[in-house]
Amino acid sequence: MRWIVGAYLALVLLHLARPDEYGPVINSVLATLTAIAMAWAGRTLRGTPRRAVWLMTAALASNAAADIVLNGWPTFVGTDPPYPGPADALYLAFYPLMAAGIVTLIALGSRTRDRAAVLDATIVTVGAGVVLWTFLIVPYATDSELGLLGRMVSAAYPVGDLVLVAFTVRLGLLGDRRRPALRLLIAALGTMFVADVAYLWNELQGTYSVGAPLDVLYVLSYGLFIWTALHPSFVELFERTEARPTTTRWGRLAMLTGATLLGPGVAALDADSSMLVPICASAVMFLLVMARVGGLMRAVERSNERRFESLVRHASDILMVIDADGTLRYLGPSTARVLGLDTTPGGRLHDHVHPDDAPLLTAVLADAGPATEPLTEPEVEPEVEPGAEPLTEPVAAAAQVELRVRDACGNWRAIEFTVTDLSDDPDVGGFVVNGHDIHDLRRLASYDQLTGLYNRAELTSRIRQRLADGSWGALLLYDLDGFKEINDSLGHAAGDTVLEEVGRRLRSLVRRGDVVARLGGDEFAILTASGDGFPTVLAERSLDVLARPIVLGELSVSVDASIGIAPYRSGLTDPHEVLRDADLAMYAAKAAGRGRAITYDDSMGERVQRHLELRAALEVALAEDQLRLVYQPVFRLATGELDGFEALLRWRHPTRGWIAPAEFIPAAEESNQIVTIGRWVLERAARQLAEWRDTGLDRSDRGLMMAVNLSPRQLADTNLTADVRRILADTALDPSSICLEITEGAVVDNAAVASRVLAELRAMGLQLAIDDYGSGNASINYLRQFQVNKLKIDRSLTEDLGDDDSDRAIVRSIIELASALGLETVGEGIETEQQRRALAELGCTIGQGFLLGMPLAVDDATALLGRLARTSPI
Ligand code: C2E
Ligand code: CA
Ligand code: CA
Repeated sequence: MRWIVGAYLALVLLHLARPDEYGPVINSVLATLTAIAMAWAGRTLRGTPRRAVWLMTAALASNAAADIVLNGWPTFVGTDPPYPGPADALYLAFYPLMAAGIVTLIALGSRTRDRAAVLDATIVTVGAGVVLWTFLIVPYATDSELGLLGRMVSAAYPVGDLVLVAFTVRLGLLGDRRRPALRLLIAALGTMFVADVAYLWNELQGTYSVGAPLDVLYVLSYGLFIWTALHPSFVELFERTEARPTTTRWGRLAMLTGATLLGPGVAALDADSSMLVPICASAVMFLLVMARVGGLMRAVERSNERRFESLVRHASDILMVIDADGTLRYLGPSTARVLGLDTTPGGRLHDHVHPDDAPLLTAVLADAGPATEPLTEPEVEPEVEPGAEPLTEPVAAAAQVELRVRDACGNWRAIEFTVTDLSDDPDVGGFVVNGHDIHDLRRLASYDQLTGLYNRAELTSRIRQRLADGSWGALLLYDLDGFKEINDSLGHAAGDTVLEEVGRRLRSLVRRGDVVARLGGDEFAILTASGDGFPTVLAERSLDVLARPIVLGELSVSVDASIGIAPYRSGLTDPHEVLRDADLAMYAAKAAGRGRAITYDDSMGERVQRHLELRAALEVALAEDQLRLVYQPVFRLATGELDGFEALLRWRHPTRGWIAPAEFIPAAEESNQIVTIGRWVLERAARQLAEWRDTGLDRSDRGLMMAVNLSPRQLADTNLTADVRRILADTALDPSSICLEITEGAVVDNAAVASRVLAELRAMGLQLAIDDYGSGNASINYLRQFQVNKLKIDRSLTEDLGDDDSDRAIVRSIIELASALGLETVGEGIETEQQRRALAELGCTIGQGFLLGMPLAVDDATALLGRLARTSPI
């Protein structure tokens, strides 16, 4: 290589030193070498690339032949070469042949017609054309010293050069900085053009003679042709590439502006002063228009960029651009988020992919890569159907692959990638990798959106799995107590926070392989594989962690849970049976009071069976009017005066006879039937009281009282107050003649709602009583909070009155407390005279019990009122 360069430089020096002596020979030799080098370079090529090389070789050979003919003419023929002569034919043949070669090359090099490049090349060519036309073509065509043929041949040279400019510029706009051979070829053609123009100009001025110093330009051009042919990157000339501007868009705009101004520039040179102003003005206007176009271009570019940026920023999918070897070149923000990476490029995608999947990625990148056209392979040219050229850009092929990728937390995620090769796209220049988390998709189906825990469907399928493979410990079902209250009073956002926190806490308790799920609402579940007492320990621990306060801004709340535990029992196959077991246990836990865990046993199943039957029968009872009310009289203990009645429900079952409320009311409460039933009771009792009033049977001083029992469910019923209002309006009863009895449990379970509803009822003027006081863990707090009027002392306390002093003490303290709070006390379940007397002595104001009066059917109650009316004085 070194000696080739050395020899070439020696020839250049020799040419410069003795142009007229050695110039022609050196030129001829180098011209010949260009053709030989080109032919040699194309020896391995096949197909279209070979055709392109052969056309260029023919052009160079024709040029070399012309040199030899011209320079050899005096020696071999003995005269001066004729003008125009055979040498000119050979010289002129160079242009079309070279143009054909370049066209073939361009067709190979770009996949699609690059309209913009064609237009740009044309603009430059027209600009150059104006110059050549003015200074060369017209002068030659009108040269009176030449004959017609001479003028035509002379003018043909600059025209040929124009063709050369056109295709050289187009070649330059193929633009691929990475291919040195292309740049060398462009340089060679450019130098050739300059040499030609210099020669033609000098010839026209009459300052040229064969072997003139400017011939060294040809020497340079030939050198560049040879260098092109010998360059290792020569074969890459024929590789396919997408238009990639060599210069920036701005550079290109400047080039076009320059070319466009050539015309006015030339015109200005020769114009008289009157024309100079319009010419300069149009040139200036053109520059201003270009500036405007540039501004528009920039605006469009910016808005495109911005749109793309915001698209990328808000996309949840993974988006990155990588090189063929996996090097990360661009990372979308969401990608960085998912994979926990910096958005700054660097490193390889392979580093984040599971080692087992890395070869797969490599394979996909190879597959998705450009389908490089074999340069030397097939002997037969692939047939291209005429008109088969695609109208639009061909869609780049995309490959799909599922890979495990390590995420920000170090977990493996299954991600489906789509890899598209856009290395040819100048705006991308790499592989676009698009991915979405399949895990995420699976998440949607199996996960609870709020807490990220498994959902009911997934839990069910996990239970089924465990039942099948026997890895079974227990299912714990959680129902939060007091959650509804938080949700209602503090809002859904607070409720969500609580649920999320509960999920976190439960998750913190379980062992590996255990499943934590949220079943919806405030229900959670843990499926544990560990048996042997662990489930109960787990339940206790959950109650502990859940009882800890949850901070909601400035507030802190706490929730309890009722937990039902379903341990493994043989014979289970259906996950729904397991869920039902847990559900039953959970109900039992709820019934036992909040914050408890109860393990399923078979009796629960039986109870549920009975309840189910009862519920169905109750539906019929409601429809067929099998319910009745009985009225138990209530008396003033001090005077023995009738105070009123308590309405008590009875069910006359067509086959089973009378059914006591203790038997069917709990069933009705579970199904919410109690709301309908309770409304019926209230309405029936109120109408009865109104009827007695209207028939003049209510003769008492203060008016008869009607006590009606209200179930906890009714308190939660949003229609309750409206129902009460309507009933009062319909019956025109004094509101204070109705006393609603509620148990303590009803208010404790849902204190927020209960206190609001009770306050409303109180405001309407109704009386309120706490029923069965002293049966559970009575609390004075509630008495204060709910502002009731009466306290009904539970039957169990009355029962032992008289024979046990300690019970007496309890009842006394209750009565004292009540009177301190300004409440009346009702002694319930008075069966003996002893009990009645004890209660009266202790200061209890009102009494009720079998001793004083049995619950009476309507007619009997009416009869009682009638008897009293007759005896009372009025
Ligand atoms: P409760 O509200 O404590 O009603 C008093 C219960 O004690 C009634 O039983 C009554 O018959 C009974 N009783 C009255 N005096 C004596 C006595 O001296 N000794 C004994 N051993 N028992 C006495 P009943 O009618 O079977 O009602 C049982 C429970 O069913 C009621 O207890 C009440 O909680 C509920 N209930 C009854 N009717 C309704 C209703 O219409 N709605 C609602 N929600 N619950 C009702
Ligand atoms: Ca009652
Ligand atoms: Ca009671």
